[in-house]
Amino acid sequence: MYDIRLENVTKKFGDFTAVKNVNFTIPKSSVTVLLGPSGCGKTTLMRMISGLESPTEGKIFFGDHEVTNVPTRRRNIGMVFQYPVIYRNTSVRKNLELPLLSEKLSKAELDKRVEEVAEILGLTDVLKKFVEELDNGTRQKIAVGREVARQPRIILFDEPITNIDLTSKLELKRSLKELFGRLQQTIIYVTHDQTEAMTLADQIALMQDGEITQSDSPKEIYENPNSQFAGWFLGNPGMNFLPPNFIKISGSKITSPMFSQTIDLGAKASSADTFGVRAEGINVSNSEIKGGVKARVTRKSIGAGGQYLLDLALDNLLIKARVSHSIGRAVSDSVWTTIESENITFFDKSGKAIN
Ligand code: ATP
Repeated sequence: MYDIRLENVTKKFGDFTAVKNVNFTIPKSSVTVLLGPSGCGKTTLMRMISGLESPTEGKIFFGDHEVTNVPTRRRNIGMVFQYPVIYRNTSVRKNLELPLLSEKLSKAELDKRVEEVAEILGLTDVLKKFVEELDNGTRQKIAVGREVARQPRIILFDEPITNIDLTSKLELKRSLKELFGRLQQTIIYVTHDQTEAMTLADQIALMQDGEITQSDSPKEIYENPNSQFAGWFLGNPGMNFLPPNFIKISGSKITSPMFSQTIDLGAKASSADTFGVRAEGINVSNSEIKGGVKARVTRKSIGAGGQYLLDLALDNLLIKARVSHSIGRAVSDSVWTTIESENITFFDKSGKAIN
């Protein structure tokens, strides 16, 4: 397998720059998710990696080989799209076999490849069925299987779950997770859905306005966003942001009525403008805490793992806090909130994190 290296890659459509000077390496045998809002350039970047689009500037390498001008059919890649690409009026087994016929495999090897892929994707029991008999999610599994069975070195997924009905979505996501854990290929997966990215990625490349603005493991980006955009885009709910009037800067020290302790940011303190905190980083108490800020509970809902999500009003500012079942269940109309320093990320006026 090989890694994929993008060197100063730019794509312009007329005057519009869809992808801006991207320098990025996708590690071999890993799952890299290109994540970002609609129109940020994810698909364009992936189409350049596949050869369906040529960069206006820059170079693309697979391992040591430059592929910038190599046509798609010679790049040895698999591609899965939003809508399943499969043969109608034929069985699942035939669908999986057909892309392999050009490889002139023995019957035993052909069966082995098909059955292995079917097993990983949970298609074994439907191998004899015609695709018309199956739901959309299963058809997409067949499309995935067709690409995986060919054993290309790189497999590209362009929003493969987006157009699948809700009931099949979860099952398909589970199957892809299982599949990715077993494949050795380099996988690139495009989505605008942060939950999908957090579930499937070894590495997320977060895109905004044609640029990769942060790339790291899902956990690292979630815990240490390098911008307000990253803090807001990842997580459900996204990070809370508290405006400048919540902090007081005095030399290198920053205090806030919500902070459990003074924070020393050294020379960087003067550039702090807002701060961010995740919903689970807010301490909530029913009884008054010295130094805590009083908040009104405007809504409470029970979420994953029995935890409660609280909407809190701090005067006119609404924030979200995630608390344990026992606190959430007993919560009264007013609560006191504090934040520990390790749960705080400061941002400057431009929205960049201050580390
Ligand atoms: P989505 O999730 O909606 O597909 P995306 O992040 O994949 O969005 P792209 O499809 O890469 O975004 O598009 C990036 C920008 O480039 C968009 O503004 C889009 O309108 C523009 N664009 C893409 N392809 C073309 C094209 N062939 N001609 C002109 N503009 C294009």
